[in-house]
Amino acid sequence: MEKLLQQDIDDLGYLHSFSDEELKVLENVDKAVEELSVSELECYLKREVNLEGPKIAKKYGLQRIPIKKEYGGLGMPPLVSTLAKMRCGQLGLGFSSYLNVQLFLTEMTLQRWGSDEQRAKYLKPAVDGDSILAFGLTEPDVGSNPASMKTSFESKGGSYVINGTKYLITNGERANAVIVFAREKGNPDGGITAFLVDTKSEGFSVAMELREKMGLFTSDTAMLEFDNLEVSEENVLGPRGKGLHVAYSALLNGRLGIAAGCVGIIEGCLNAVLDRARERVQFGKPIGKHQLIQKHIAEIRQNLEMARWPTYFAAVRKAEYEKDMDNRELLAEMDLRASLAKKIASRFAFESADHAVQVFGGFGYSLLSPVGRLFCDSRVTRIYEGSDEIQELKIASSLLGKGFEAFE
Ligand SMILES: Cc1cc2nc3c(=O)[nH]c(=O)nc-3n(C[C@H](O)[C@H](O)[C@H](O)COP(=O)(O)OP(=O)(O)OC[C@H]3O[C@@H](n4cnc5c(N)ncnc54)[C@H](O)[C@@H]3O)c2cc1C
Repeated sequence: MEKLLQQDIDDLGYLHSFSDEELKVLENVDKAVEELSVSELECYLKREVNLEGPKIAKKYGLQRIPIKKEYGGLGMPPLVSTLAKMRCGQLGLGFSSYLNVQLFLTEMTLQRWGSDEQRAKYLKPAVDGDSILAFGLTEPDVGSNPASMKTSFESKGGSYVINGTKYLITNGERANAVIVFAREKGNPDGGITAFLVDTKSEGFSVAMELREKMGLFTSDTAMLEFDNLEVSEENVLGPRGKGLHVAYSALLNGRLGIAAGCVGIIEGCLNAVLDRARERVQFGKPIGKHQLIQKHIAEIRQNLEMARWPTYFAAVRKAEYEKDMDNRELLAEMDLRASLAKKIASRFAFESADHAVQVFGGFGYSLLSPVGRLFCDSRVTRIYEGSDEIQELKIASSLLGKGFEAFE
């Protein structure tokens, strides 16, 4: 087992007693990450989406981790999925982003809101590793405020016709199905509904594959278009008109996943700088013997401590919430904890990657170095699934109370 993952498990032993089954799942995650590391590096340098990611996830059952056993999953508690995501994050965020959408934004959303038929048709193949899913909320003109979305649907006989564009959609290029959010045509004040859209449907197209990114090269990011795309009543996910509830419940899961990926980035940086500081010699001694380099290493280690505990704790609160999902107090607490974890961990991931690049010097500025890649990947965590600013508004308004929602 990778040593920092082992340390996480040992430290968490004070909060959670890991079963043999849980430890086996984490061993498999560790093996999957090891096996994926070569193709992730090759694809990153070639700026290619890594098609091996979902295959290796399937081989080791990663796409089953948080889903209940009755739906073909492994039924692991949030703490185990969090540790799994942390281990994946050590590799960078390409594979981690694919997994975040697959597990937390889509599979868990289908588990929560899907009908039996929808779970059989969309969740089961995803959990079995035979289908990739995407989550389409953001649009070219609509990001932080999804309530203002323009993608529309209108009723036509017993079905719905969807028109619009979704932008920056992870997994969008290779997804078999997408959860698409659309507003009822002619209803500017509401009616937002979630739909399950098969990407083979007439009227669906990938309008653009975004390759010109700052990092995350191994994950696909696409613009999707819906041109008079027709879906049936059976494709409505969750209550009609309650699409934003569906979206926010997905983001709640997703934010904890992002926080875990960020802790992984810090761990990846720590491993890399320790090796480099021992090996690289300047002024006749390993740079690790220069005190200012030691300061960078100590900063990264402190950042790890500051990022991982809010993330673990959000996972513990999530486990409580999952036992009683109608409890609004537990939901509010979980929401706050997920925002805190994401905000804190993404800041420390970015800062740690910056320290790590400094330790590596000129080589750190190259994408050939692990820390160069981690630095580039880390930046997006302060933007996607709710930017820093949106997390801060959520944190403050949850403390100030009702009526202080500055972002609505
Ligand atoms: C690589 C990548 C992958 C992504 N994957 C997905 C995906 O799979 N599915 C999906 O639906 N979306 C995805 N996104 C979109 C992402 O969630 C949005 O980029 C994010 O929510 C921010 O929206 P925006 O980019 O439109 O920024 P904007 O909303 O335009 O915000 C611009 C700036 O203004 C700030 N701001 C906005 N409103 C306020 C306010 N009220 N107060 C203070 N500041 C404010 C923001 O914090 C930000 O700093 C992805 C994005 C990226 C980069």
